[in-house]
Amino acid sequence: MRLDYTLPFALSLAFAAAGAAILVVLTLARLGCWSLRRPWRPRRGLRRAGLALLVLGPVASWATARWKGATMEHAATDLAMTQAPRPPRDWHRTVVPPAPYLLLAGDLHCHINPPDWSDHVARHLPETVRLAHEEELDFVSLVPHVFSDFPADPAKWARVAALVGELQAAVDARPDDGLILDVGVEYIDPSGHFGMVFGDVPAALAATPQTAGAAALVDAFADRGGLLVVNHPLLTPIRSSMPLTSLDISWQPFTGRPPFRPEIAAVDARADGFEAANLFVRAVRDRFLLDDGEASTRRVLALLDREIVTRRRRMTPVGGTDSHSFHLRPMTFVLAEQRSRQAIRDAIRAGRTCVVQPGACTLEARAEGGGAFMPVGSSIEGARRVEVRASGREVVIYRNGDRVAAPADGQVISVDLAPAGCSVLRATVDGGYSAPVYVNCPFASRR
Ligand SMILES: [Zn+2]
Ligand SMILES: [Zn+2]
Repeated sequence: MRLDYTLPFALSLAFAAAGAAILVVLTLARLGCWSLRRPWRPRRGLRRAGLALLVLGPVASWATARWKGATMEHAATDLAMTQAPRPPRDWHRTVVPPAPYLLLAGDLHCHINPPDWSDHVARHLPETVRLAHEEELDFVSLVPHVFSDFPADPAKWARVAALVGELQAAVDARPDDGLILDVGVEYIDPSGHFGMVFGDVPAALAATPQTAGAAALVDAFADRGGLLVVNHPLLTPIRSSMPLTSLDISWQPFTGRPPFRPEIAAVDARADGFEAANLFVRAVRDRFLLDDGEASTRRVLALLDREIVTRRRRMTPVGGTDSHSFHLRPMTFVLAEQRSRQAIRDAIRAGRTCVVQPGACTLEARAEGGGAFMPVGSSIEGARRVEVRASGREVVIYRNGDRVAAPADGQVISVDLAPAGCSVLRATVDGGYSAPVYVNCPFASRR
């Protein structure tokens, strides 16, 4: 655990729990004496201490959260996130990306206040920058929430344009400290949430007549080079006593039935990324409620493995924290040609990504019998078999969702291809998940 406000917050909760435990033990002891007809010796000091802890603990935890500018929910989430793993400290030295690429780490789904409001998102821009440096992030996409009622309302449309423009101006005014900050939005609709990142939201808004609707805005954004990312695609409800877990904010084109709003259909057809790793989903929902922190990531990747073949289109896994408070992590790793916003966008569009841990970005493949090894996101055609390799302690290779091999660190192995045609090859390496290499999938060569 790092030393931040979650430590006094956790101690306050522990004091409250200790106070409750003291009172329970005293009550049980008294009941025991009564049933055994033994004399009860009042322990007034202990009872007062128990009561004091039970009252002061929650007050102190509330005060700690307020002092930080967080709600109790934010503080509880940040406390849970202290247990969310990070890549090894020395990963920049130990994980060697395939030449000629740089391996950059980032977060494509980070909320920000303003424009988001304080009860919902606690973290401001300076704290975001500080956390990003602390977590050694190369890039962060700031995505304020926008709601799907805004395109129909001229006043809301203008307000979104103003707020995103102000955030962009604040980001532009920063000194160059090496961190690549991107300004986008997360579009919220009952049919699903999607990110508009690494593009120019203000320009897309300016180029789209308000009466043209959200699908026209999506097209204007993507036509100008922006990336569309389907967020938490399988965030389906689960039974639990915790609030919000009954919400279905999954991607309805995957989990529901048509018809869908035009902008949802547009994003479904042309999304560049699919959020296979959402830190909140992994570290809170999956870990605590499903007792399996990898559950959603595995499910999304298995879904993409199937959908790629069925829909005959590239589908690239990406990751984001969905942070509303004081935590960030590297969630998306990209193989970029250089350290720039444009190069990161190009890498994601080309499918050169891995999520959660960086080692999976070392997956390479080539047609058996020679040629150069090619990185994740590549398309290999006319192969009868392929050779693959990846670097890490624990490497597993998947073909169309099936585990086919577990080679040693750097070992070149030969893999049979799917007889029916398109083979989607992926790797997991030391807790990370790679994007696919496409073999004999003609659609993957078309851009
Ligand atoms: Zn969302
Ligand atoms: Zn979000």
